[in-house]
Amino acid sequence: MINPPFFNRVPYLILTSLFSILLFTCVGPEVNTSVTDADILAFHHSILTIDTHVDTPLRLKYEGIDLSQHHDPYEYNSKLDFPRMDEGGLDAVFFAIWTPQRARTDSGHAAIKQQAIDILDLTEAEISRFPQSAEIVTRSQDASRLQVAGKHAIYLGLENGYPIGTDINNVDLFYQRGIRYITLCHMTNNEICDSSNDTPEFGGLSPFGVEVIERMNQLGMMVDISHTSEATVEQAVSLSRAPVIASHSCSKAMCDNPRNLSDSLLTLIAAKGGVIQMCLLSDYITPDPPQEARDSAQTVLKQKWKGMDRRSDTNREVYRLEWSDLNQNFPRKLPSVADAVDHIDHMVELVGIDHVGIGTDFDGGAALSDCFDVSELPNITRELFKRGYSKSDIRKIWSGNLMRVFTRVEQLAETQ
Ligand SMILES: [Zn+2]
Repeated sequence: MINPPFFNRVPYLILTSLFSILLFTCVGPEVNTSVTDADILAFHHSILTIDTHVDTPLRLKYEGIDLSQHHDPYEYNSKLDFPRMDEGGLDAVFFAIWTPQRARTDSGHAAIKQQAIDILDLTEAEISRFPQSAEIVTRSQDASRLQVAGKHAIYLGLENGYPIGTDINNVDLFYQRGIRYITLCHMTNNEICDSSNDTPEFGGLSPFGVEVIERMNQLGMMVDISHTSEATVEQAVSLSRAPVIASHSCSKAMCDNPRNLSDSLLTLIAAKGGVIQMCLLSDYITPDPPQEARDSAQTVLKQKWKGMDRRSDTNREVYRLEWSDLNQNFPRKLPSVADAVDHIDHMVELVGIDHVGIGTDFDGGAALSDCFDVSELPNITRELFKRGYSKSDIRKIWSGNLMRVFTRVEQLAETQ
């Protein structure tokens, strides 16, 4: 394009200057309209990033994934290893120590507690093989310290309080093993509380659940309300002396799934200073879109299991495998990063920038079309920049907000 003579360009210059001033005023002082993709990538790699929920211990246990090796996520059932964390600029993670839920009996609780301890042992052993790449850590400030040292911080969370059974001493035991949050329950009720995916039993927290939260506050463990029922969230938020977290949850207003959080719950969590870590699991981001072959396969399977007890010890695994085969044979159309960031937009609009973060659920089923594993996490930062979030906003989303809650939880435990 040929440049017009200077005087012809004056109105153009005035207009562009006015536009820049407007943009500067509207979206904050840190937005640079001439930011290049290289700038965005450099920024993403420079900031502290933390993902509060990955199920990688399951991949260590069942598939023997070697964290030092780069895996193709389309070939292996693995979304995280150290080379891909480096590629995706992911500094710190919470490994979820997840166990399946069985009978709520003394023997059931004892067996699953042992299983959780075995997974902790295995995770510690695996991480200790790579002292140059990562460390298991327990304090909020450890992530920044390790980022400077060029190493990954691996925090531990217990997904489902079921291994605690009915013994409050187990909260101390898991704290001593390095666990720094407990997701109070999973897809079914346990001795602590009601789940979002089960029939109400206690009307929220059980009397034992109240004790568990009090002990977690005393020790300095974050209370994680992902997977819990609405009444459980309300009671946990009001009971906990420290702000609570949702380690991996999305917005119900954006996608109506029982696992997602309603606007009133998001508001409650934020009002007490808590943080909601957005999850990348397809069904929590967008409703399953109509797909003829997949839909009819689902109808056949639902029909087959109608009236059968799919939670009995014998049926549970068969049911899980049949659904897993269906998803393999008729994969659902994956949502995109833009769909996921719509949840961030909604939450930020509702409760402000100080209460939103990211907990992907990678290795636990999460995948987006353009963020299929941790190596593609910079696509989230790209989308946030595109939508006008400032650098300071993006820092808060990637770690600032979560670390504020984590630090507060530690301080309250230390100063009581
Ligand atoms: Zn989960």
